[in-house]
Amino acid sequence: MTRLLFIAAAGFLVGAFLVTIVRTVGHEPYGAAVPAPSQAGHAPAPASAPAPASPHAGHGMAAPAATAPAAPRVINTICPICGMDVDPAIPPAAWEGVLVGFGCRACPPEFANDPAKYGAAARTNTVVEP
Ligand SMILES: [Zn+2]
Repeated sequence: MTRLLFIAAAGFLVGAFLVTIVRTVGHEPYGAAVPAPSQAGHAPAPASAPAPASPHAGHGMAAPAATAPAAPRVINTICPICGMDVDPAIPPAAWEGVLVGFGCRACPPEFANDPAKYGAAARTNTVVEP
């Protein structure tokens, strides 16, 4: 009888021990399930990544628009000094925020002697009388 009680007690202890292990193992999946929602919480952060892409596209469209008004342009088509058609191959001279074109390479130095006089003529696209 004593042995039977011992075996029964031992069986009970083993059973209790196994149940404890099963419960412990059973709790681990629950513990692992807790971080799962946090990972799901991290998922929305990468989902918002495409949002900055649209401002970048808008920036690309704004860049050409800002460049066009900033570039100075040649205001005359006739050289204010010699009266020839403005030659695009000759670098224009910057004057009061605009560019003055020339018809021959001898005219830019002449323009430098009196930019105000020749520049005013370039505004009206006329030739300065010598
Ligand atoms: Zn000229």
